[in-house]
Amino acid sequence: MTAPRIDTETLRRLPKAVLHDHLDGGLRPATVVELAAAVGHQLPTTDPGELAAWYFEAANSGDLVRYIATFEHTLAVMQTREGLLRTAEEYVLDLAADGVVYAEVRYAPELNTNGGLSLAEVVETVQEGLAAGMAKAAAAGTPVRVGTLLCGMRMFDRVREAADLAVAYRDAGVVGFDIAGAEDGFPPADHLAAFEHLRRESMPFTIHAGEAHGLPSIHQALQVCGAQRIGHGVRLTEDIVDGKLGRLASWVRDRRVALEMCPTSNLQTGCATSIAEHPITALKDLGFRVTLNTDNRLVSGTTMTREMSLLVEEAGWTVEDLRTVTVNALKSAFIPFDERKALIEDVVLPGYAAAL
Ligand SMILES: [Zn+2]
Repeated sequence: MTAPRIDTETLRRLPKAVLHDHLDGGLRPATVVELAAAVGHQLPTTDPGELAAWYFEAANSGDLVRYIATFEHTLAVMQTREGLLRTAEEYVLDLAADGVVYAEVRYAPELNTNGGLSLAEVVETVQEGLAAGMAKAAAAGTPVRVGTLLCGMRMFDRVREAADLAVAYRDAGVVGFDIAGAEDGFPPADHLAAFEHLRRESMPFTIHAGEAHGLPSIHQALQVCGAQRIGHGVRLTEDIVDGKLGRLASWVRDRRVALEMCPTSNLQTGCATSIAEHPITALKDLGFRVTLNTDNRLVSGTTMTREMSLLVEEAGWTVEDLRTVTVNALKSAFIPFDERKALIEDVVLPGYAAAL
C-alpha cells in the first residue's frame, strides 16, 4: 500500500464512535474464565489466552450460524446480577482504553434470564454496570458516552416484548432497538408489528440486514419495517454495477442511511473475502454514510484501533477517512442531535486536528 503508515498509538488515541458492538461478544477472556468458575459453567479451556484463541478460531469458520454458537460461553456467565454488572462495567472501560468516545452497546435481554432475573432486572442491572464504567472512565480522564440498543432475537417469539422494553427504558439509557440472530430464514418483516409499534412510539431502530441474506433483506428492513440504519449492509453492493447505483442503493446513499459495517466480523462469517476488498472502502468512496464497527471484540479478536489499523494498512485509508466514518457514526447515532453535535465539534474534530 502506498498510504503513509500511521502508528498504532496514534490510532488508539484518535476519538472513535462505534454504533454496532454486542455486549455479549465483547467480554474479557479472563473475566469469562473467572465468572464461569463461579457459576460452574464448563469452558473449552480455563486459560484466558487459549480461550481468546479458541473464540477466534471457532468464529473464523466462515459460517454465521457457527459464529453465533460461540456466544453460548459468554452468555453462560451473564445470567446473574454479578456477571452482568461486571461485564457491563468492563465493557465501557475497554472501549475507553480503545479511544472510543461514543458507543451504542446492544444485547438481547431475553438471553440473560436463565438465572432467574426478569427482563426488567436485566436491563436495570446492565444500565447500572454501564453507568459505573462511565463514571470510572470519566474519572480517569477518558470519558465515553454509551447508549443502549435492546435487541429481540429474530428466530424467537419475544421481539415485540423486547420492543416494549426498549420503549419503557428510553429515559433510562436505552436509545434504540435492533433484531439480532440468524438472518437467513428470519426476514425483518416477520416482526413488522414490533417495528410498527416502535415507529408509533417514535423510537429509533436499526436492523441487521444484508449480511447472510442479500438485497431483499435490506429492502424489507428499510422500506417495509422503516429502519433508520442498517447493521452490516455489505450486500448492498449487489445493487451497484460498475459504479452505477440501483434504486435501493440510491435510496441508502441519498437518504443518508448509515451502514454499520464490521470488516473483521464479515471476513469471519464469509461475507467478505479480504480487508483490501471489503465493500466499506468502495461504499465510502461512492459517498455512502459508512461507519466502522467491531461487532464482537472478543469473538472477532478485535478493537476499533485494530479495525482502523487494518483499513490503513490493507485498504489505503487515511486519517481523513477515519475522521469521516467517525463523524458519520455520530451523525447517525440515536442520542439527541445537540449531544451528537457537541461530541463532533468538541471532541472528535479537535482530536483529529491534534493528530493530523
Ligand atoms: Zn451484529
